[in-house]
Amino acid sequence: MNEEVCRDPEKLVPELKQKLKELMMDIAKLQLPIFLFETLRTEERQKDLFERGVSHAQHSKHQDGLAFDLVVMDPTGWTWSPEYDKFLDIAGLIAIGKYNLNWGGNWEHFHDPNHFELRLIKTDSSH
Ligand SMILES: [Zn+2]
Repeated sequence: MNEEVCRDPEKLVPELKQKLKELMMDIAKLQLPIFLFETLRTEERQKDLFERGVSHAQHSKHQDGLAFDLVVMDPTGWTWSPEYDKFLDIAGLIAIGKYNLNWGGNWEHFHDPNHFELRLIKTDSSH
């Protein structure tokens, strides 16, 4: 089990890195308690998340530098509590409307409001 989380924006493809940078500035301006949690993911970590049911993809866009996760931080630390989804909803709307990203909060098959990824031209159902 590998719990090491990479949150280095430099590991993302340049287009996504730029969008992330601008989105984080928007989030800061709105004073939302949202922070960058994860960028690039190793094959080992993806396998672990998949086996635990945290991720539904055997291969994730995180492994290709095409996705990042944002997570809310409250006084206790990182939190995935649904009570904070309202903040992620705002970030999601900005990500879609301003940066043309895919946002996991819109996925019906696997609701994942923490997940943001680059919209590729080809249709790809793996995330
Ligand atoms: Zn993700």
